[in-house]
Amino acid sequence: MSILSLAGVRKEYPGGVVALDDVSLAVQPGELVAIVGPSGSGKSTMLHVAGTLDRPTRGQVTVDDRDVSRLTDRRLAALRAHTIGFVFQQFHLAGGVSAVDNVADGLLYRGVPLRERRRRARLVLERVGLGHRFGHRPNELSGGERQRVAIARAAVGSPPLLLADEPTGNLDTAAGAGVLELLRELHATGTTVVVITHDRDLAASLPRQVVMRDGQVVADSGGSDV
Ligand code: ADP
Repeated sequence: MSILSLAGVRKEYPGGVVALDDVSLAVQPGELVAIVGPSGSGKSTMLHVAGTLDRPTRGQVTVDDRDVSRLTDRRLAALRAHTIGFVFQQFHLAGGVSAVDNVADGLLYRGVPLRERRRRARLVLERVGLGHRFGHRPNELSGGERQRVAIARAAVGSPPLLLADEPTGNLDTAAGAGVLELLRELHATGTTVVVITHDRDLAASLPRQVVMRDGQVVADSGGSDV
C-alpha cells in the first residue's frame, strides 16, 4: 500500500505548457523523499497535483489508497484536511494573527472547537521550539520562525503525509538547517515527508531522491514503481 501514488500523470497548462509528462511515482508510508531538479522542471506542479490542490490533465493520483479523481469535492476536502499537511516556500501565514491562531487554523476544517484548537496549537508550537512566541504575529518573527509556525500549522492535525515546497528556499543556511531538522523529527515520529529542494547537499542527506527534468522523473534513488 502506498500513501501516495501518481501513475502516468500529465499536466498541461493553458498555452500549451506541458508541466508534467507521464510522471509515475509511488511513496510508501514512512518515507522521507527529496524532489530535486532545475527550476521549471515541474516539481511544484507535481507536489500540487499530488496534494490534490490541482487536478492532472491525464493519469491517476492516489492518496491513502483513494483515487482522488473519484472523490466528490466534499470528500476531497475531507481527505486533504485529514491526510495532507502543506508547507510552502512563502510560508502563507495570516498576517495580523498570532502564531497560536495561525497554527490553530490548521484544524479549522476538522470541527475542533476553538479552545481545543488553541490548546493543540500551543503544544505543537512548543514542539517546534516556539513556546516563547505564542502571541507573536508573522511580521514579529524571523524567517526561520515563520517557517516553524507554518510547519506547526501543517503538523497540528498529525496528517500522515506532509508535502513541503522549497521550505528552506527563503531561509539562510542556519534557519534552513533548523527547518530540515524539524522535518526529520516529524518523519521520525511516523509522518511521510515529501520535500522539494534545490539544495543538493540537503537532498543528498535524505534517504531517497527523485530527480525531475522537463516534466519527467529522470532518476529515482529508491522506492518501487507503480
Ligand atoms: P518547478 O517547481 O520545478 O520550478 P513548476 O512546476 O513551477 O516547476 O513549473 C513547470 C512548468 O510549468 C514551467 O514551465 C512553468 O513555467 C509552467 N507553469 C507552472 N505553473 C503554471 C501556470 N499556472 N500556468 C502556466 N504555466 C505554468
